[in-house]
Amino acid sequence: MPLKQLILNGFKSFADKTTINFDTGITGIVGPNGSGKSNITEAIRWVMGEGSAKSLRGENMKDVIFAGSEFRAPLNRAEVSLIFDNQDKQLNFDNKQVAVTRRILRSGDSEYLINNQQVRLKDIRDLFVDSGLSQDSLAIISQGKVDQILNSRPEDRRGIFEEAAGVLHFKQQKEVALRQ
Ligand code: ATP
Ligand code: MG
Repeated sequence: MPLKQLILNGFKSFADKTTINFDTGITGIVGPNGSGKSNITEAIRWVMGEGSAKSLRGENMKDVIFAGSEFRAPLNRAEVSLIFDNQDKQLNFDNKQVAVTRRILRSGDSEYLINNQQVRLKDIRDLFVDSGLSQDSLAIISQGKVDQILNSRPEDRRGIFEEAAGVLHFKQQKEVALRQ
């Protein structure tokens, strides 16, 4: 399930539409301090359903929208798309290519799309569950995360192992069944 492309538009420091192509093999993103490297990994987490503004270094989810600079007015919307090659059907979706999009307006309205069709956040979670790429999986290790794991409570650490072992999906299904 290779990642093919990331498109940022109005997300944090990426005021202009920016397309990042991921070739086969390893992609490294380098740049000076403050150039936007962490913003790129945050964009990936955001489009996959990150719900915590704080973990994206903001106070409010609207803080992901380009806030303006000395030479440029703030924007009113942010949009990020992540495009996967799904020929191996690792994502729970029939199409060979899956484009996941999230957008947010300054009014607070936000929406998710899969291949240009509007969907619920739950559909995004279902798409990634068991792919090893869910929003809080260890596929993305951000700055400070290693310390956080080492210092976490045993029950939280257990959650990390459950995710890695692929049992989280069944646990979530059980919780839903018990609530019904
Ligand atoms: P480092 O090497 O220090 O980790 P980095 O390349 O990871 O740096 P980021 O943290 O991704 O850099 O980028 C920070 C920059 O993004 C800052 O200049 C900050 O002002 C800018 N930024 C963050 N949010 C917004 C926003 N909503 N609008 C405009 N710029 C923003
Ligand atoms: Mg950084």
